[in-house]
Amino acid sequence: MIEIRGLTKYFGEHLVLDRVTLDVAKHEVVCLIGASGSGKSTLLRCINRLIEPDWGSIRLDGVAVEDPSWGKTGLQRRVGIVFQSYNLFPHMRVIDNIMLAPRKVRGLSRVEAHDKAMAVLALFGMERFARAYPEQLSGGQQQRVALARALAGEPEVLLLDEVTAALDPELVGEVMAAIRGLKAQGLTMVIVTHEMGFARDLADRVCFLDGGRIVEEAPPGALFNAPEHPRTRQFLERLL
Ligand code: ATP
Ligand code: MG
Repeated sequence: MIEIRGLTKYFGEHLVLDRVTLDVAKHEVVCLIGASGSGKSTLLRCINRLIEPDWGSIRLDGVAVEDPSWGKTGLQRRVGIVFQSYNLFPHMRVIDNIMLAPRKVRGLSRVEAHDKAMAVLALFGMERFARAYPEQLSGGQQQRVALARALAGEPEVLLLDEVTAALDPELVGEVMAAIRGLKAQGLTMVIVTHEMGFARDLADRVCFLDGGRIVEEAPPGALFNAPEHPRTRQFLERLL
């Protein structure tokens, strides 16, 4: 479904992605792990064109992400993204935060968008907060709203960038459970995480990035129990 070939990105003189090649199959969950600065977020953001690479290609079902046929919102519609800092609009109620994209990007009517928004909120047990403002919610609740908002666009791929990193430990579980539910439904996801337990539990495949390269990729059992590359071993040992 996603084909990344030779992706290379410089920020100024600094090589941040170095010929990254990665395939993600439909329904697959791939976790990206690696030290701070290894290029995980940059790679993720290239997939939905928040960042333009210098070289290499990314195709979605065979169509390059920069292809003009996507139009203004086609790619955003197919590829949802959620960040660590939920980025909800503070002046808008939960329901309006979620209805925005379906209205603008998918052109749904108010009623249709409202129904859709309530359905995705229900998915995460958040219906009763529809009329609340983001600041009235806990971090875990806000992050579930952010997930609901991303899903309201009915993306075929969801990109998650450290969505549990800003949460108190006791709130991490509820967001992870929400994401586990999405996997059970077969959603294709690329997940950047510092939570190795999460990667182990959720990933079909884990990619370890170091200095802008994928130096090792394997199913979680293999990567965590028997890492082959010395850099992977070093990284995992430091976490213990
Ligand atoms: P973290 O785990 O801390 O989130 P990361 O693996 O996600 O790290 P990136 O955010 O992809 O790392 O950053 C990779 C490198 O690129 C870092 O050295 C960072 O300083 C640099 N970088 C990222 N974004 C920019 C930017 N917009 N301008 C300049 N340099 C950037
Ligand atoms: Mg990052």
